[in-house]
Amino acid sequence: MQPVNIDVPSSGQLCQLAEDVYWARFELPFRLNHINLYMIDTGDGLCLIDAGVNTQATAQSWQALFDGPLAGQQISRLIITHHHVDHIGYGGELARRFGLKMEMTKAEAEHAHWLYALSDSEYGQISAEHYRAFGLEEEHIQATRTGGSRFRRMSAPFSEIKYISAGETITTPAGKWVIRTDRGHSDAHISLMDTDRKLYIGVDFLLPRISPNISADIRNRDDDLLSAYLHYLDEMQHLDDEVTVFPGHDWPFTHAGRRAKQLIAHHHDRLALLIEAARDAPLSTSDAIDVLFGRRFSDHELYFASGEARAHLNHLVATDIMAQIQADGQADMFFLNEPRGD
Ligand SMILES: [Zn+2]
Repeated sequence: MQPVNIDVPSSGQLCQLAEDVYWARFELPFRLNHINLYMIDTGDGLCLIDAGVNTQATAQSWQALFDGPLAGQQISRLIITHHHVDHIGYGGELARRFGLKMEMTKAEAEHAHWLYALSDSEYGQISAEHYRAFGLEEEHIQATRTGGSRFRRMSAPFSEIKYISAGETITTPAGKWVIRTDRGHSDAHISLMDTDRKLYIGVDFLLPRISPNISADIRNRDDDLLSAYLHYLDEMQHLDDEVTVFPGHDWPFTHAGRRAKQLIAHHHDRLALLIEAARDAPLSTSDAIDVLFGRRFSDHELYFASGEARAHLNHLVATDIMAQIQADGQADMFFLNEPRGD
């Protein structure tokens, strides 16, 4: 991974990354404190890619762009790459302002609608049930039960949604972007590749500094999303060194194949740690957090850490290395399968 030598755009500014690609950076009120937003100039209006969270700061950041570098520009499309709140949150507001539909994959739209429909108490109940199954302490179970839905808090009501799918293209005077969709960090996340120009808007699937969060799905905590993500990385490790990647967080970079290989190794290291730990005793998801991270987390971070730990356990079950025992009201336990003798 090699950072591209280009300054991060400051508030109210755009940075031009290619003839038809612009980059803005907005604040996020999280530990991961910013998001990169991209815009493609189709020659027939601007296609916005992702929206930021629905906060006053995001509204002001967009307004500064519309009053500044985007003044007089026609905004013709809005693509939301996936349902995570930092990408979709302000989408409804943008769509209504410009009379657009939010363009998403069907799977991401369904997930977003499912989350948005949950009241704070419904969300708290589901989340508490997961935390209990993860074997987390009572104080964390109570905190998530009463903490409300961050998704609802930080999302504006959605506009009408138009489905888009893998293989669709966006042609601009400068090139041709092909939409691909992948599963892992989310259900059917959109990224855009221009093969001829060696440009890839990878958003949250390929990040230069942190590893994209691979978390058990709140709708099905047993789902093996890590397999899907490793499958994606397996393809990406063959990317040309010259391809420039535009990620959803941090900075544009090249040598993406090397980065994909690092991420594959990172996940295999984590799986190996869990296998090693399970030789001593069966693991709950809470035990797996200790093994993988060696520290405890605040309630907000615990959501990601527990989801990540569980996704790795799920992968070990899906690949037949571990088995799982579930009992109502008890922590799900994971233990090593006996090696099969011949
Ligand atoms: Zn994301």
